[in-house]
Amino acid sequence: MKLSKNQLIRDIALQRIENLFNLAINNIKSNPSLSHRYIEIAIKISQRTRVKIPRNLKYFICKSCHSLLYPGITSRIRISPRRNPHIVVTCMVCGRIKRYPISKKK
Ligand SMILES: [Zn+2]
Repeated sequence: MKLSKNQLIRDIALQRIENLFNLAINNIKSNPSLSHRYIEIAIKISQRTRVKIPRNLKYFICKSCHSLLYPGITSRIRISPRRNPHIVVTCMVCGRIKRYPISKKK
């Protein structure tokens, strides 16, 4: 199978997004503003190339300030054990709250 040019661009974009995330994680403690910039660049690449940020990475981005939501540093994670149990992630930078339902196992 021959890879199209578009496919190749998307592959490279995805790799760059993943690299930027790794850099952001590595710098979150020592240089939070640099870490934030890496995330912004990753988002820009995603928008420009229309390559979606993988779900497992997107999980760790604050939708309103684009901070890397690193547990214990830039985010607080709680589990809310109500009727519909969900995970509550609070961005410590801007205070935005994200909620993820926990799917029940039968
Ligand atoms: Zn935020």
